[in-house]
Amino acid sequence: MTLTGERLLHRLSSALAREARPDAVVRVALDALVTEVGARSAGVFLFDEATASVSPVYSVNYLPDMLEQIRNLSIDSPALSNLAIRTGEVQVISSVNDVPDGVVFTKQLAEMIGVQAVAAVPLLMGGRRLGVLVYGLAEAHQFDEAELRLLQEVGERVSTAMERARLEQELARRADEAELLHAIALAAAGEDDINLILEAALSQLAGLLRFTGGSIAVVEGDDLVIRAATGVFAATALNQRLSRGGGMSWRVLTTGTPFLSHDLLLDGLRPPSQDDEKTVRSILVVPLIWRGKPFGVLEVDSSEPSAFHEADIAMMQRVAALLSGPIELARRYAAEVQLRRDLDQALAAAEQAIASRDRFISIASHELKTPLTSIKGMAQLLLRAHASGRLDPDRIGRQVGTIDTQAARLQDLIDDLLDISRIQSGRLELRREPTDLVQIVSDLLGSLPEDSRQRVSLAADRSVPGNWDPLRLEQVAQNLLDNALKYAAPETTIEIRVLTDGADAVLTVTDHGIGIPANDLPTLFEPFARAANAGQRDATGLGLGLYITRQIVERHGGTISIDSIEGEGSTFTVRLPGAG
Ligand code: ADP
Repeated sequence: MTLTGERLLHRLSSALAREARPDAVVRVALDALVTEVGARSAGVFLFDEATASVSPVYSVNYLPDMLEQIRNLSIDSPALSNLAIRTGEVQVISSVNDVPDGVVFTKQLAEMIGVQAVAAVPLLMGGRRLGVLVYGLAEAHQFDEAELRLLQEVGERVSTAMERARLEQELARRADEAELLHAIALAAAGEDDINLILEAALSQLAGLLRFTGGSIAVVEGDDLVIRAATGVFAATALNQRLSRGGGMSWRVLTTGTPFLSHDLLLDGLRPPSQDDEKTVRSILVVPLIWRGKPFGVLEVDSSEPSAFHEADIAMMQRVAALLSGPIELARRYAAEVQLRRDLDQALAAAEQAIASRDRFISIASHELKTPLTSIKGMAQLLLRAHASGRLDPDRIGRQVGTIDTQAARLQDLIDDLLDISRIQSGRLELRREPTDLVQIVSDLLGSLPEDSRQRVSLAADRSVPGNWDPLRLEQVAQNLLDNALKYAAPETTIEIRVLTDGADAVLTVTDHGIGIPANDLPTLFEPFARAANAGQRDATGLGLGLYITRQIVERHGGTISIDSIEGEGSTFTVRLPGAG
């Protein structure tokens, strides 16, 4: 059948005009040709520059075995199609019986499908070899000059349509990419929070690449830490630390070069994390680089093999380049915020320490001054009396008594201050020896002034022995008793109990005094703590006694607790281990 040029060209043009994708262009072109020339078989082969080979992309009536044989066929093998590509000219065979040696391969194939005549039309674009279009006729056929020219023209039109489709596709892809890169840059620029930047970037990236999972990891200390993740395993991947050494991510980070695997299984590689074992087939990882130094990796993966192409590497690198700046800035910002926070804390702690020291000094000096003023006042009165010679023995007795009391108070205060300093420098040491707590408390009560207006009762076991520091325990009992006397009204009874409870020694001091407001109970054992009602009975104090008491008790391995109702009274309970 002779080719009628007009009809074929018209048919081709209208079919090609409708197609925007290169593979569709190839298909409609071949179909049009097959119909017009009444071909028995036909195929389109595309040339791959990198491997210098051709592969079929679309065929009609080729046998499956045959297709297998001609995949990645070297451009140098003896086939008519190769000859057409190499010469850039339409090549024909009029009859298989009459085939030159240079194309023996085509002869074999033609015989396999019962084809007599073959035409091979090169597809070229500005000197670039795109591929070849081949068809075979069931009958021998003599191609005349007009037909060869027509075929050459068919080749040119198909090549042009393919190239146009390829360019359009590339343009569309670039437009998409530009738009998305812009969106990524925008999303990244507006964020201070590194995780939000990364999440936004990953979700935008989904518009550019078809991936099922993705992650961004950045170097933190010695590890690469996954800071953003999408996909099925996002939850487990997030915050995972990838230790230095193994893995694709570290390889990409240390070499600074991208990594692409079309199929992890075929490449004999393990997926990025154990969990992905079954789902990750292909993967693309690019480094995040700031000022020439890799500091993280951007990774996308897919459950499909060959999900990413070589061309995607450059695109991912552009995304990585866009992200690097904002990520680095966000990291620095976060570090600065942290530093400022640490500084603020340190400053606050220092200020607090200074304030508490100031408070300590001011309270302590005030407390020390009171007895000192009164001692000084009495001494001056005595001096004046002595100078005037008017010495009244009763008066002198009272005044010296006051001096004695105030000196004792001064001594107590100084002892407390010394104890505080010992406690705070860890120098409060115990001198343990066999001790009887009952003995200590009885001795204490024996030394109470006769004229005390409060009654003190003692209920005690015969003895409550233990290996304790007797002087320090005396201080504990003394403090609790002093407080009870200080904060309870005259004519009330103070009850003291000393007994053994299992392996513990228990000392309780109960008064029916002013009690302690519930609000003040939790902090009462802290230095300088005084309850809101402490001044009620004109009781002075530094608020150190209970603090020291608790330290002593705890040094012995014991506990101290309070039961108190404001306005009714208080019970202090000391429990020491090791009685008996
Ligand atoms: P100071 O008695 O020198 O103020 P303490 O440390 O001994 O210091 O006691 C702390 C505070 O606990 C007292 O200021 C007082 O408010 C309260 N407190 C202690 N014992 C009693 C008690 N028996 N009854 C009522 N309040 C008490």
